[in-house]
Amino acid sequence: MRVGLTGGIASGKSTVSELLAGFGAVIVDSDKIAREVVEPGTAGLAQVVAEFGPSVLTESGALDRAKVGEIVFADEGARERLNAIVHPLVGARSVELEEAGREAGKLVVNDIPLLVEVGYAPFFDEVIVVDVPVETQVERAIVRGMSETDARARIAAQASREDRLAAATYVIDNTGTLDELRKRVQEIYDALAGTC
Ligand code: ADP
Repeated sequence: MRVGLTGGIASGKSTVSELLAGFGAVIVDSDKIAREVVEPGTAGLAQVVAEFGPSVLTESGALDRAKVGEIVFADEGARERLNAIVHPLVGARSVELEEAGREAGKLVVNDIPLLVEVGYAPFFDEVIVVDVPVETQVERAIVRGMSETDARARIAAQASREDRLAAATYVIDNTGTLDELRKRVQEIYDALAGTC
């Protein structure tokens, strides 16, 4: 059984991930893996440099994320070429970590912020969606230090609430207190961990 976890920015997805980990789940964090596969010394970074040239490196030889961001933001073909390098590496590493977790008898949850946007929902048996109204996202993003304009721009660039909910097999309504969130996450953990 493959389980995915997603949610829009500031929906509370990271909080849910931490709660699940606390209950005993293994979290496979796609953002973290995406950074790891292009760390200095990796084959992934060598492929990115071969494709885009050494100008994508910082002075210390790490990937210059801002630079890469500029390149792929302006050029869809470049974005596809970057994804063609990074996505298979992330996929392979995720499967490795998932298998290790499963062998250890743990519930494995794939934390993927853009799960719906990249069309991965069909690859999961269960999709947990952390859901709040846009206004709650904006409020919580502001509390975390983002400007309202940035928060709204990011939300607009992500999947709509409706599209995310359409992919869900479990919905976590995170409009309540953190205590209520913990209870809901415990329920879902118990339901899913009971099947593995
Ligand atoms: P995401 O990973 O979806 O961007 P986070 O888990 O980092 O979101 O949560 C965004 C912010 O909202 C954090 O500051 C977090 O502590 C806060 N938060 C999450 N859930 C709740 C809640 N139920 N009530 C109040 N604040 C919350």
